[in-house]
Amino acid sequence: MAFSLKDLGLVDRVYPLQPSGYIMALDSGTTSVRAIIVDEYGCIVAQASKPVKAFYPQPGWVEQDPMEILASQIAVMMEVQFKSGIHSDSIAAIGITNQRETCVVWDRDSGQPIYSAIGWQCRRTADIVDGLVFDGCEESIRSKTGLAPDAYFSATKIRWILDNVSGAREAADAGELMFGTIDTWLIYNLTGGEVYATDYTNASRTMLFNIHTLEWDDELLAMLDIPRSMLPEVRWSSGEFGRVSSEIMTHMPLIAGVAGDQQASFFGHCCFEPGDTKNTYGTGCFMLMNTGDEVVHSSNGLLSTIGIAEGGRISYALEGSIFHAGSTIQWLRDGLGIIGGARETEEIALSVEGNDGCYLVPAFSGLGAPWWDPGARGMITGLTAASNRATLVRAACESMAYQTFDVLRAMEADAHHRLGSLSVDGAASRNGFIMQFQADLLGIPVVQTEAVETTALGAAYLAGLAVGYWEDRDELMQNHAVGERFEPVNEPERVAHCLSGWHDAVARTRTVVQ
Ligand code: ADP
Repeated sequence: MAFSLKDLGLVDRVYPLQPSGYIMALDSGTTSVRAIIVDEYGCIVAQASKPVKAFYPQPGWVEQDPMEILASQIAVMMEVQFKSGIHSDSIAAIGITNQRETCVVWDRDSGQPIYSAIGWQCRRTADIVDGLVFDGCEESIRSKTGLAPDAYFSATKIRWILDNVSGAREAADAGELMFGTIDTWLIYNLTGGEVYATDYTNASRTMLFNIHTLEWDDELLAMLDIPRSMLPEVRWSSGEFGRVSSEIMTHMPLIAGVAGDQQASFFGHCCFEPGDTKNTYGTGCFMLMNTGDEVVHSSNGLLSTIGIAEGGRISYALEGSIFHAGSTIQWLRDGLGIIGGARETEEIALSVEGNDGCYLVPAFSGLGAPWWDPGARGMITGLTAASNRATLVRAACESMAYQTFDVLRAMEADAHHRLGSLSVDGAASRNGFIMQFQADLLGIPVVQTEAVETTALGAAYLAGLAVGYWEDRDELMQNHAVGERFEPVNEPERVAHCLSGWHDAVARTRTVVQ
């Protein structure tokens, strides 16, 4: 059973109708949920967003409230219609994109989650992963899923819920539980419980999905003791998922596009050809490079994943996942209280000449690519009596660029391909200081997309292609517009000095020495 508008306290917010011709994209991110309406040129005509809370019940644990995510998502769907005057009879299709890996388990009868959503950054299952590695499962996981065994992915989070929530194991064995990543949770509830499905890109992040056969993998399920009955059907990212219930949108538009946030942004960047690469600077940083129909297994700490699942074709991707990027800026605001908001950071970072030898390694929940060290914890090095708030802000901003540098070099080594420029999006990519510093470090231009909401745009594209709103990828390419371009300023000595200080700081946080 799914939740009604009444259950969610939204029953009074149904707005009147208007005529037709747009795509709506729902972007259920880690820090906020958004609803965006785009026109045929890929221009955003209206948007609404709402922050979503995260909870940190223990060090290294991250949780969110699935009901808050759902209610906020529906609220912004309503708000964007109200603000724009564009209502459900004008919506040709809906695309959904979402924070990936985050795990919700709910009761098949009541629809009620049996535990909080366990966030993608949550490290509580590091021990389960250690057990899998100890039991010799690593090679099998890597070859089937393209992923390095890690607490980041959904599989061990599901296992934790089954092992730790009272009655969960018995209920799962009796077929009474449903697991979903956030896309599945939203689709299920938006369709009034009619559709229980995910897409290939989200499935490829669970560590239970075989990216070669495109099926849930029985051996992996047995390894983790997760019953197959609690897994959704897996579909192409572009195609029919089901209609939004009339209680939520009167004219019941079709959900026709679904992709994990990084894959949606990859599609929004039009990274359709092998070698095409993008980097998103959001809560984390995520770089994806298209490897065509070949799964490239990394020798440098990257993941292989499903990049695009559209038009009956799979394009695989190499991915570098950095866990803490924009979230480091949030920590300056919420943890340390030294900034009022993320936008201030550019000016503060530019108020000092250099980093004064100070480095901040935001390994708050371990290090992701290319190090994969779950035991690592954050560190600030090089503090002196002259260090102040600006020093820390600058070090936090720089840390996004250093982490991206490490991932990009690893990617180039795996793909045997040197990038000519880096295409970027995400809220923190609007920070000019970080982008210039990034270009200087990499020695190549960094190019912003014109649309900030590339992730939502990608979801809109997937939905629009499915219903013929856009004819083909060529038409999408015509919409693709770039924004500001940051050219590198060639200062090799300064760059080498900074990188050496950074790598020294990273080495100090490491618990796994390779
Ligand atoms: P997500 O989809 O992961 O929620 P967004 O792309 O909305 O992420 O990015 C949000 C993150 O970006 C936040 O963690 C915030 O601290 C950071 N951020 C937003 N604006 C800036 C900025 N101007 N400079 C640096 N970081 C920023």
